[in-house]
Amino acid sequence: MSVSTQSRSHSDFPSDFRGAVLRPTDDGYDAARALYQGRAADHGPALIARCADEEDVATAMRYACAHGIPVAVRSGGHGSDGYAMPGGALVVDLSAMRTVTVDPETRVVRAQPGVTLGEMDAAAQRHGLAVPAGTVSSTGVAGLTLGGGIGYLMRRYGATVDNLLGCDVITVDGRKVRADPAENPDLFWALRGGGGNFGVVTSLEYRAHPVGPEVVAGQLIFPLDQAADVLGKLSAHLATAPRELGLLVAIAPAPPLPMLPREVHGKPVLILVVVYTGEPAAAPAVVGPLAAAGRPLADLVGTTTWVRANSMLDAVAPYGMRMNLRGGYLPALSADAVDVLLEYVATLPSKPGDIYSINLSFMGGAISEDRDEDSMAFSREGAAWLWEAICKWDVPGRDAEYDAWATALTEAMRPHALTNGYANLSDDLGEEWRRGVHGSEAKHRRLRAVKAAWDPQNLLRFNKNIAPEATG
Ligand SMILES: Cc1cc2nc3c(=O)[nH]c(=O)nc-3n(C[C@H](O)[C@H](O)[C@H](O)COP(=O)(O)OP(=O)(O)OC[C@H]3O[C@@H](n4cnc5c(N)ncnc54)[C@H](O)[C@@H]3O)c2cc1C
Repeated sequence: MSVSTQSRSHSDFPSDFRGAVLRPTDDGYDAARALYQGRAADHGPALIARCADEEDVATAMRYACAHGIPVAVRSGGHGSDGYAMPGGALVVDLSAMRTVTVDPETRVVRAQPGVTLGEMDAAAQRHGLAVPAGTVSSTGVAGLTLGGGIGYLMRRYGATVDNLLGCDVITVDGRKVRADPAENPDLFWALRGGGGNFGVVTSLEYRAHPVGPEVVAGQLIFPLDQAADVLGKLSAHLATAPRELGLLVAIAPAPPLPMLPREVHGKPVLILVVVYTGEPAAAPAVVGPLAAAGRPLADLVGTTTWVRANSMLDAVAPYGMRMNLRGGYLPALSADAVDVLLEYVATLPSKPGDIYSINLSFMGGAISEDRDEDSMAFSREGAAWLWEAICKWDVPGRDAEYDAWATALTEAMRPHALTNGYANLSDDLGEEWRRGVHGSEAKHRRLRAVKAAWDPQNLLRFNKNIAPEATG
């Protein structure tokens, strides 16, 4: 995380800015700069401009553009790189802009960028609706959407970007523009997967779908020594699984639940996190074979609500720990890839109190089949599964061992993984990775051209950066 920038006091920051302006000596500065990624707290930004509305965003961007000052953008604060609060930077903080509205007639949901997934889910569920998004309720809608957005509904309704109807954007020089299929379609193409490279998004409009409120969801917990066998048997069953089945496989420490033998508490186990949003009566035929793939220690799948199901992972997602995140796409769940993941579980440098989870998200269905790879920046070509390793610990002295472990795992997974990937579910791995993560070279060139058109000075550079295409 080398995201420091040259410090500047910004004593000339515009006085007509209506929101809160927080400098290192101000009360509230430390609370405002806290991110999900605890390592970001090692450095503080020079100024946090907490915007009250989109006029404030425009004011801050006009100031930055006039002085050639690079800008970081903070929405939900979950970005694993901590790019939302770089040392010494000017931050446009959108976390106070958190209105969400739902039109039950048109099924259109509009969210400001400070809205979290939990807030959007709660609002949409009042009308029996949901926008396909992620699995932890404190994640921000904005950063998640701009990267792609995957979760339990992706097989049924696609990625979040597949359901994005349009955005309002403040450009780097402070103009308000619309991005949708009719207005500025190239910008809209790039915003759906290209991250925060092109402008500051102040409103996101989504297509929502009927979901729940009742769903069948929960966890099937197996001993780790059954993992290879269970995962080997899954593929055959999943080949015909309906799109209503969402499945995330996790290798993670067993929670201290009374129904689990005491000796496995805190030890790695295989957890199938199941969310079935189809007709409850059909659930046993879909979920039953998952449990029958082995001899579970616990079967915690039952009828619940969509809001509960889509926040069941919150318990292992506390704010503010030091963390790293690696991941990529797999063309299939091969025995060799599973072997690598299991081998690396055994070498994890974890201690009591640390949190880790090695995940496999089942793709296919709408996210894989219903959209053309070139229809937007987000890439999905060839992806059948997404692997992901997330580790969390407390003290800086342990960063190096965790980073070395994650780097070695990424190298070991490389022969099994695709070169494209999902930018939001990995730390930034550098120039070569960024060139490939959106898919083809042609897509990367198109992203660079859109960047050159909308942010030629690369003021929005604290992100998985796409360098503007060289001109002249
Ligand atoms: C615990 C956890 C669980 C997660 N689960 C999922 C999941 O289930 N599915 C999934 O798809 N992803 C998931 N993610 C990844 C998540 O999508 C990304 O971390 C995403 O960047 C978070 O967005 P944010 O707004 O919360 O973060 P922020 O840190 O505020 O933003 C991340 C970056 O996005 C850009 N950005 C944010 N808002 C704007 C804006 N309004 N305009 C322009 N640029 C902007 C900026 O470059 C910023 O640095 C998870 C992450 C964590 C830490």
